[in-house]
This record gives sequence, C-alpha cells and structure tokens, in this order.
Amino acid sequence: MFDYVIVGAGFAGSVVAAQMARNFDRKVLLIDRRNHIGGNAYDHYDHAGVLVHKYGPHIFHTNSRDVFEYLSKFTEWRPYEHRVLAKVGDKLVPVPINLDTVNRLYSLNLTVEGLEKYLESVAEKPAAIRTSEDVVVSRVGRDLYEKMFRGYTRKQWGLDPSELDASVTARIPVRTNRDDRYFTDTYQVMPKHGYTRLFENMLDHKNIGIVLNTCYRDVIRSVPHRQLVYTGPIDEFFDYRYGKLPYRSLEFKHETHDVPQLQPVAVINYPNDHAYTRVTEFKHLTGQAHHRTSVVYEFPCNNLEPYYPVPRPENAALYKKYEALAATRPDVHFVGRLATYKYYNMDQVVAQALTLCAKLSGATRGELVRKPPAVGQVAKPAAGC
Ligand code: FAD
Ligand code: UDP
Repeated sequence: MFDYVIVGAGFAGSVVAAQMARNFDRKVLLIDRRNHIGGNAYDHYDHAGVLVHKYGPHIFHTNSRDVFEYLSKFTEWRPYEHRVLAKVGDKLVPVPINLDTVNRLYSLNLTVEGLEKYLESVAEKPAAIRTSEDVVVSRVGRDLYEKMFRGYTRKQWGLDPSELDASVTARIPVRTNRDDRYFTDTYQVMPKHGYTRLFENMLDHKNIGIVLNTCYRDVIRSVPHRQLVYTGPIDEFFDYRYGKLPYRSLEFKHETHDVPQLQPVAVINYPNDHAYTRVTEFKHLTGQAHHRTSVVYEFPCNNLEPYYPVPRPENAALYKKYEALAATRPDVHFVGRLATYKYYNMDQVVAQALTLCAKLSGATRGELVRKPPAVGQVAKPAAGC
C-alpha cells in the first residue's frame, strides 16, 4: 500500500515525494507520462554533448531562503546572473528596459534623471491598471510598448496585451539605471550539474518508486494507495467537465552549431520579427566549456503540451469552478503550475509543494526545511486520510 501516488515528476511532484518519503517515512509512487523525471525543468546532454534544457531555458532565481535551502540539500550551485537582449530593428538592447535601452534605441545620451523625466513625459495614465498593455504604457509610454512588448506578447500568447492580466507584463520591471540583470532576486544560481541530477538526488530514496512513460489513469486502479497528489492539468483531471482551460504551448527547435559561441548573452528576444519569440544559447546558463554550442528557438502555439496557464479574467473564472470541484476531493491534493493554473516560476512551485507537505505532515514549512525530523518519524495523520 502506497501512502501517496504522485502524478507528475516535475518540481511539484518531486518535492512532495522527497519530503514525505525522506522526512516522514511515507511510501510514495511517482508516475509520469513522459520518459524522464524533472518535468519542464528536465535537462540532458544533446548529441553533441552540450547540456540543454529540453523545454526551453530554465533560470533559477528566488528570494525565498526556505526554497533555496531546501534545494541545496540536493545540489551544489553555480552563480549565474541572467541577461537578455532584444533585437529591435538592427539594434540589440537590454531587457528589462533600462537607461542603455532607451539611449541606444533613440540615440540619446540621457542620465538617470533625464530618463526619469523622459519616461514621465511619455507615460500614459490609464484610469486603472487592469491589463498587460496598461502596465507597460503607464510606465514607458506607447512607443517603447510597441517596440518591445506588443509584438512579443501577441506572439507569445496569441492575444493582444490588452486581453491579458496586468500580472503578465508586470513580471518585467523598468529601470532607470544601467542594471541589465533580468532578475534582482537574492539567490540567482543554477544547479551545478544540471536540473536532472538535482531531481535524481532528490528522488533517490528507498521509499520512492518511479514509473515513467505511464499515464496515471492507466494504472491507478491497480495501485493501492491512500491519497493522490496531482500535478497535471486540473481540467484534464475532471475530464474537462466545465470545458477546456486554455494553456499556451510552445514548439522548440533545437540546433547545434560548430562554433563555441553564437550570442553575447544567454537569451535574445525577437519582439517584432520572426515567428519565434526568443533564442537561448545554453552554455551561458550552464557554464559548460565545449567547442560547439547549442541553442533553442521557441515558437508559441496552441494545442500541444500545456506549458503556460493564460492569465485573464475569464480563465480565472473557469479555474475557480475546477478549484471548487477539487475541494470536493479531500483524497486528492492539487499542486503545481498546471494543477493550480498559476503562472508560477520554479521557486514558487517548490514553495507551494513545501506548503502542501507542511499541511500533510502537521509541521511548519520552516521546520520541514531547517529541522527535518529523523527518517522514520511518523507524521500526524494527513488531512483527508
Ligand atoms: P511540470 O514541470 O509541468 O510537471 C508536471 C508533470 O506532470 C509533467 O512531467 C507531466 O508529464 C506530468 N503529467 C501530467 N499529466 C499526467 C498524467 N495524466 N499522468 C502522468 N503524468 C502526468 N521557471 C523559472 O523559475 N525560471 C525559468 O527560467 C523558467 N523558464 C520557463 C521556460 C518555459 C519555456 C516554461 C514552459 C516554463 C518555465 N518556467 C521557469 C516555469 C517552470 O517550468 C515551472 O514553474 C515548473 O517546472 C512547474 O513544475 P510543475 O511540477 O508544477 O509542472
Ligand atoms: N515580454 C515582452 N517582451 C519581452 C519580454 C517579455 O513583451 O522582451 C512580456 C511577454 O508578454 C512575456 C511576459 O512579458 O510573456 C513575461 O516575460 P518572461 O520573460 O517572464 O516570460 P517567460 O520566461 O515566463 O516565458
């Protein structure tokens, strides 16, 4: 008898598996329909021996000490600060927008104060900041919005920024200084030996069984278990009872080139040209030394693998209906980006999974991370047992 069957071996499922197996001696079966662990964070060495991220660039960054300390049990890190350039016309300019972006785009020589005044003069003031268009035009005005955000967002989401929640473009700050880092989080690191190794270390435990290439539906009836932890798409779990939740998808085109380096930074965004949104050169992220280099192009599309929940009011309303249905199933715990329909980064998913573990075990999240109970300690009865 398994204490938990966990559907999905990404960050959500793997953190719950590792915590409950290692700290509370629970017997866990982890099932994934893919042929590998790691979910979307999976990385591997390609045919040329270059470490690549199969599902696009995954850059780790967090402000959460709990999350960083927890993952540090399973990996060493290499420091990495992410930088992105956007190709606008024939110019390469920093993203997020900063002093150099504006000076380069408009051939100006503004100072910080000059840029602050400039942005104030071009910023529009919508009555309320509701959409992704409102966020950007209220900060940088319409021309920068059109040059850097409108086309990229239309490609990425198949929607105009005016049709998307403010939270989407609000992920990208605007700076008036020359800081060209994509993130400013306290912890900006990459797993030294890759994500897959991190997952292998996390899941290497006698209490964890792993079954790959398997949809849980095909086996669940023959696997005795007490509770289910589900990290797949929530609408699929309920057989699309209220209709399909929109998830945006991507097609990835991976290439290897016979040169050591192709791009000055890891990611170049293409807001206005091409069908792809961005090109990532992995060696910048991984620090790998190799005489060849591998890149991936991202082509947004619908109806392939679900990658991105689409943040907009009608989708939130539909998700609420599924969430209410989920609440009627105390034997099932929904966690992760697809199961809770949240545009979460990896660290947010880890935090969410740790919170679920705290609920299942009766410990606090801090206790779980910093003072793990000895293996073999029996957890308090899990909610819903
Ligand atoms: P997933 O990783 O999607 O795992 C869910 C797993 O469930 C999958 O492996 C799936 O096969 C399995 N599954 C689903 N249904 C079933 C079923 N019926 N039976 C069996 N298995 C099933 N985050 C960052 O922090 N930094 C980044 O730079 C970053 N870049 C990203 C780039 C891209 C292109 C994408 C798509 C995401 C990016 N993310 C990034 C987000 C990150 O991928 C997610 O936050 C994280 O991987 C979500 O983990 P998860 O476990 O919730 O879901
Ligand atoms: N975005 C944009 N232009 C850019 C970078 C981002 O318009 O050069 C918008 C776009 O809508 C994108 C969102 O900001 O989907 C969030 O960007 P982020 O880089 O966080 O996306 P992710 O890495 O999650 O795909």
